[in-house]
Amino acid sequence: MSDRFDAAEAAGGFTEYYGRAPGGVWSAPGRVNLIGEHTDYNDGFVFPFAIDRRTVVALGDRDDQVLRVSSTFAPDPVSVHLDDLAPDAVSGWAAYPLGVAWALRESGADLAHVRGVDLHLASDVPIGAGLSSSAAIECAVAVALNEHWGLGLDRPALAKAGQLAENRVVGAPTGIMDQSASLLGEADAGVFLDCRSLDADVIPLGFRDAGLVVLVIDTHVSHAHATGGYAARRASCEAGARALGVDSLRDVRVADLARAEAELDDETFRRVRHVVTENQRVLDAVRSLREHGPASIGPFLDASHVSMRDDFEISVPELDTAVEAAQGAGAVGARMTGGGFGGAAIALVADALVPDVTESVRAAFAARGFREPTVFAVAAAQGARRDG
Ligand code: ADP
Ligand code: MG
Repeated sequence: MSDRFDAAEAAGGFTEYYGRAPGGVWSAPGRVNLIGEHTDYNDGFVFPFAIDRRTVVALGDRDDQVLRVSSTFAPDPVSVHLDDLAPDAVSGWAAYPLGVAWALRESGADLAHVRGVDLHLASDVPIGAGLSSSAAIECAVAVALNEHWGLGLDRPALAKAGQLAENRVVGAPTGIMDQSASLLGEADAGVFLDCRSLDADVIPLGFRDAGLVVLVIDTHVSHAHATGGYAARRASCEAGARALGVDSLRDVRVADLARAEAELDDETFRRVRHVVTENQRVLDAVRSLREHGPASIGPFLDASHVSMRDDFEISVPELDTAVEAAQGAGAVGARMTGGGFGGAAIALVADALVPDVTESVRAAFAARGFREPTVFAVAAAQGARRDG
């Protein structure tokens, strides 16, 4: 599998920027969530994989205790003294990389005696397309600083540091799925994560041998306005759990849904039913993958989409169109992915059908007067690593 960025290119970027060679290069991928949507904050199950789009960070020592970070994505570098690291010390894009440095210290790493570093970032993870460019930048910086400073934190601890940076420094109330996928992913494998115990299992997908790829269909519908919708769904889940007398919806089974329907108002019930059936679909998809191979998971992807469209009500016409057009052109399965209200859909597609599916999706968007989507294939790739 060829990664678009190589270490030499990233090192060259650092040298051009800072006028000296870096001491090391690390990278971490974005991710796609194959199945398990809005289950993470309900203590449930998710099954994402790391993708072959990466954020690369080249790092070089400084003579002082300053951290400086630059990115091909932003015009100006941002600096902060190690002593001044704090949740409100940085804002904007630099909150991701510098927030990780703060979070590492918050997780117990002793940064009192480390030297400052210059960091230079380059990435081919599309930003804001639901592929978690944010986890890619956090995890690349986390593995780089952990190894360079000899902090000795393991990958689950680095995932927590990335999440802490995103929650407290960036201020986004996200779960730990993205960082887990970015740190633990492996080539042609998914990361099955229990969001209650944080146990993670790397499970072979077998897509490569089966001649399958995942197409990402970025609708370009912005989900920036979705904060209210996301918060409302979380509130519904909490209300449903409270009414049913459980800690979280993880504790409700499909067999309990008849009782839930009798006890909850219609809207809360449908929110609950999405989460409960989605958890079951993740378990079923993982079992089916193991027992019957990758082409067997299509119906779970399709059912996940229907549940998000009708019960959780987080789809939009562009996502429904992408899913229906992909299915109509022969995709094994398709669903919207991510938080909803826009963003991307995914379709599991046989290699030979990629042109047909792509064309059908484009034509369906054009026929409805929607903005042209960006369609591209992703493969499950290795998680965060040292590149040079
Ligand atoms: P997503 O994670 O879905 O791509 P987010 O809004 O969570 O979208 O994160 C995107 C933000 O992360 C960007 O707006 C930027 O602030 C930061 N970011 C991501 N990649 C980079 C990069 N290579 N360089 C600088 N900042 C980045
Ligand atoms: Mg993100």
